[in-house]
Amino acid sequence: MNDRAKEQLNRGTAELGVHLGQGELGKLYAFAAELKKWSRKINLTALKSDEDIAVKHFVDSLSILKVVQGEGSLLDIGSGGGFPAIPLKIVSHHLSVVSVDAVEKKILFQRHAARLLALHGFEAVHARAEELPGKYAGHFDWVVSRAFSDIPTFVRLALPLLKGKGKIVAMKGKGGKEEADAAGPSLLDMGMQVSDIVRFRLPITGDERSLVVIKRI
Ligand code: SAH
Repeated sequence: MNDRAKEQLNRGTAELGVHLGQGELGKLYAFAAELKKWSRKINLTALKSDEDIAVKHFVDSLSILKVVQGEGSLLDIGSGGGFPAIPLKIVSHHLSVVSVDAVEKKILFQRHAARLLALHGFEAVHARAEELPGKYAGHFDWVVSRAFSDIPTFVRLALPLLKGKGKIVAMKGKGGKEEADAAGPSLLDMGMQVSDIVRFRLPITGDERSLVVIKRI
């Protein structure tokens, strides 16, 4: 990762109130290097520049720390190249993270990265989210996703996997609030409601973001 990208990662995370130690920074740099290397062969990310990886993948993934805090277990559905699962695991030492994607190559990449970074309490699972309730029914304190699907589809998949008091978090861009408002009736049918919408701007780029938090009624 070049110096400019490192500086943006530092500034961006500081703006989020996330303070990274040398160990965590080193892991993020190493993860960026692997992501670039594997991206030449398999389709992991459209973002290729160091600055884009630093801000649009890493800072963006870590913005979920605005609502996900403390210990517990978290599932990331449709994590692709590992977002937000891997940056989140790198900085959240006490969070146990399961990352699932339907595309095997992406999961093999994530397992490789997790080994290289010596991530403990991280598991990458090759499956469709629809198949998970067999093993993980009612298992998670948090079920999250970024760039995965519309809110009702995501909640339908997440619900059987969620603990009673667990929370679902959909990471959205511009229009997240409108999408959350429109999803209200379908959520109600599932016994769910939006409990919070955290709106903010992504550091450095200024792009609009929102975290839509959903829980049982
Ligand atoms: N969260 C990542 C990737 C988003 S792309 C990021 O923000 O960069 C959406 C991902 O969801 C793809 O990798 C796709 O393979 C995966 N996906 C789509 N439907 C799925 C399903 N039913 N179960 C698991 N993964 C799925």
